[in-house]
Amino acid sequence: MKEEYQGVQSFAEVFSCGMKRICPACKHGKMFRTYFKMNDHCPVCGVKYEREAGEYIVAMYINIFLTEFLFITGYLLTNSVFAWSTGTQVAVWATFNALFPIWFYPRSKALWAGGLQLGSGLYPD
Ligand SMILES: [Zn+2]
Repeated sequence: MKEEYQGVQSFAEVFSCGMKRICPACKHGKMFRTYFKMNDHCPVCGVKYEREAGEYIVAMYINIFLTEFLFITGYLLTNSVFAWSTGTQVAVWATFNALFPIWFYPRSKALWAGGLQLGSGLYPD
């Protein structure tokens, strides 16, 4: 008999599973086999993560939105608090804009999977 799992029930659980990159349907399985490659199915509960091509484009929007929100907010804060030169500002924020989306990439996909689970629910084949 297959074990029953309870998926995410709240945005807090979506956030928690998303940041840990674990399956939102069972809260146990690892969603990624490498840093950038998402598993097709959960290794624990067997749900299929991506049913249609392009289903995870929203994850890209989440990533871009958060990156630019943090960049603009961070720029305005550091510009008002510190007396950084233009060169320092460019170096800091160009580095941030290059590295943060890479770090956040799998997390944005896991967050979107959590959103899918909260909405219609992920399910096995
Ligand atoms: Zn799972």
